[in-house]
Amino acid sequence: MPVPETLPHDPPARRVGSLSPSRASDFMQCPLLFRFRTVDRLPEKPSPVAIRGTLVHSVLERLFDTPREGRTLAAALDLVAPEWERLIETEPEAAEAIGSDTSDWLASAAPLLETYFQLEDPTRLEPAERELHVTCTLEDGLVLRGYVDRLDVAPATGDMRIVDYKTGKAPRDGFEAKAMFQMRFYALVLWRARGEVPKLLQLLYLGSGELLRYEPTESDLLATERKLTALAQRIDQSLTTGDFLPNKTKLCDWCDHRAICPAWGGTPPPMPAIDADGVVQSPEPTATEED
Ligand code: SF4
Repeated sequence: MPVPETLPHDPPARRVGSLSPSRASDFMQCPLLFRFRTVDRLPEKPSPVAIRGTLVHSVLERLFDTPREGRTLAAALDLVAPEWERLIETEPEAAEAIGSDTSDWLASAAPLLETYFQLEDPTRLEPAERELHVTCTLEDGLVLRGYVDRLDVAPATGDMRIVDYKTGKAPRDGFEAKAMFQMRFYALVLWRARGEVPKLLQLLYLGSGELLRYEPTESDLLATERKLTALAQRIDQSLTTGDFLPNKTKLCDWCDHRAICPAWGGTPPPMPAIDADGVVQSPEPTATEED
């Protein structure tokens, strides 16, 4: 008897090929927002707050090009204007969003950099990696990827510390889990790619001068992997049925797509055709998105 090409109990074909922490968070926050960003790829206007976050990240990345003794607050402040020029060369829409009078806006990066120096002494650090692109493929074929702001590796032990800068304020008590999701995601990717569980996850909140630290375990990361696998299955299901339900919350105030969102009386565009392979890739994350 001929064997059917697809047995009834075969696992469903994977339709979402890759995920970044930002896109995974989108789906958890609002499936329709995920669709608009990842499937429709609708343009969004960058916010001044997000652009300032990118600028501060660039300054902190560049600061470590300077020999240790030169990594001072004054040196960091001197990097703001040249890093802004570099940024608008690659992202001209950032210049449009800020306008022509940039002096006050550029000055608003200074308190964040001052706070950074209260939290860390960069003359005592030698990062192993900065803006590190990390990626791994899970057993079911799902590719995870993202950018780690900084990876420190202890010379004596090889212990890894993942560091992420946030230009906002630390979450209130009880809301840290969401903030740590992105860090666990990176820790899982590094564990799967390098075979070592990172020793420490560290978030530096430059908006409030607080540090959030967490020591992940293998079982934490296995739980994160299961969560992402289940999330990818839910996304696959939505891609198959075309159902991406809106989730109306106070976060809608920051959504660029309210005018076409049914939760706000709008009508979404028709669902676009998925590419020839039937696989949707999470767009390559940018530093702005990952901030
Ligand atoms: S407005 Fe709110 S419900 Fe609608 S897509 Fe945006 S986040 Fe989702």
